[in-house]
Amino acid sequence: MTGHEYRPETGAFEELLGAAGAGLDRILREVPDDPVRQHERWDGLATPLPETGAGTDGAIEALLNDVLPFGTRLTHPRSWAFITTGPSTLPTVAAVVANVAAPQRYTMTAFNLLEEVSLDWLAELCGLGEHMKGVYSSGGSTANLVALGAARQWTLSGRGIDPAASGLDGTQLAIYTSTRTHHTVQRSAGVLGIGRRNVRLVAVDADERMDLEALRDALEADVATGVVPLAVVAAAGTTDTGAIDPLRGAGELAREFGAWFHVDGAYGLPGILDERVAHLYDGLELADSVIVDPHKWLNAPVGIAATFVRDRAILHDAFTQEPAEYLEGSFSAADVAVSLDSIGVPYQDFGVELSSPSRGVQVWAILTELGREGVRARVVQDDDFARYVADRAREHPRLELMLEPTLSICCFRYRPPAGTDPDEVNQLLLRRLLRETDLVISATVVRGAFVLRPCFINPRSTHADVEALVDTVIAIGDDLTAPD
Ligand SMILES: *Cc1c(COP(=O)(O)O)cnc(C)c1O
Repeated sequence: MTGHEYRPETGAFEELLGAAGAGLDRILREVPDDPVRQHERWDGLATPLPETGAGTDGAIEALLNDVLPFGTRLTHPRSWAFITTGPSTLPTVAAVVANVAAPQRYTMTAFNLLEEVSLDWLAELCGLGEHMKGVYSSGGSTANLVALGAARQWTLSGRGIDPAASGLDGTQLAIYTSTRTHHTVQRSAGVLGIGRRNVRLVAVDADERMDLEALRDALEADVATGVVPLAVVAAAGTTDTGAIDPLRGAGELAREFGAWFHVDGAYGLPGILDERVAHLYDGLELADSVIVDPHKWLNAPVGIAATFVRDRAILHDAFTQEPAEYLEGSFSAADVAVSLDSIGVPYQDFGVELSSPSRGVQVWAILTELGREGVRARVVQDDDFARYVADRAREHPRLELMLEPTLSICCFRYRPPAGTDPDEVNQLLLRRLLRETDLVISATVVRGAFVLRPCFINPRSTHADVEALVDTVIAIGDDLTAPD
């Protein structure tokens, strides 16, 4: 293989993607052995920088044989850990197509159009209404940062300060969220100059929802000492338990204290499609900003979240140095004769990314494939999986339901005989589950107790897989606590 002579690159996508596709289908069908157990097979990858290239053939061979089979088990149908799973097939293909056909979201292409179309569809799907306008970014972390950047701009410009231009000007600001908040809220506060310590962590109630009395107390205490309430951040589906904060009450308190109201629905916003829990999203329309991660419950490839606000002018003020002449609806394709005549909707002015892939096509592909009813069916099935685990945990003498599931997360544990520490048994149980079976879940702490925590968003799972999880937890727990 002579790799050292320069040859212009041409496409061989049909052949290479076909081969890669066959490899991907295989790892989804067969449970691959864990990479760590197979490390002698990929240890060889840590070579010095090659002086001469292996050429396309040599590189694809290495990719398919030495790399592809040794990825994560999170893609497998029996994986329900964290809020991470394998992307479904169609949006993954859409992402590859976009990477080549329209590597940037800008200029007048079908991909630029689908950026906007899919944001509007997503807003409608998740019950946000037509007035909410969005922008994509790489994930919930960035989406929260963008939303809280808007909050900072809005709150301080109301006090005659332009924080994007001149900083905070000494104003003491605080953000209010629950103890179950995602840590990216604190990180956003750090990045935005508000300070992580100025994020007030409000207590949660017995259902793991933000306690509104405690929220009011925190707001009042700050206002009494001259601190300006910047934003109230409520979760529509916390990462740990899937609890939905009381959105109406939190939103009304935000209004009362002149603060921005942000709803973090990175994981749980699509849960509104399940009619059994839709009422828990009451008050969502009070939100000044909302985020959702299509790479969570919608099963897009990792790297896509959306921030929605009422008017993107506020994002423009917060994130661009360009003249502030952006008005919602001002963009028009008049006078555009060819795609390169215009950049299209100026997403680069609404966040922190300039170069950015065309991500909307992934969401468009998902919603075109499934429609609203198809997404609803997936969400309902995932919620059903969590409820099934809850029912089994309630009924079985050696299981314990630790929290009624709201969405698709169920917190439960094995109940060992009296005199045995349940935390210790469940920690050992989880380790054995991960080491000895093809079942993958994670854990959290609920009211001081270590609990098992499957999060069902995996589109490849079946009911039999979920049954196997419960049966296996019982079997391992029994084995761990059997008298010897
Ligand atoms: C996952 C998650 C985030 C962070 O999103 P990333 O896409 O992982 O950056 C923020 N908030 C909540 C509630 C989440 O579940």
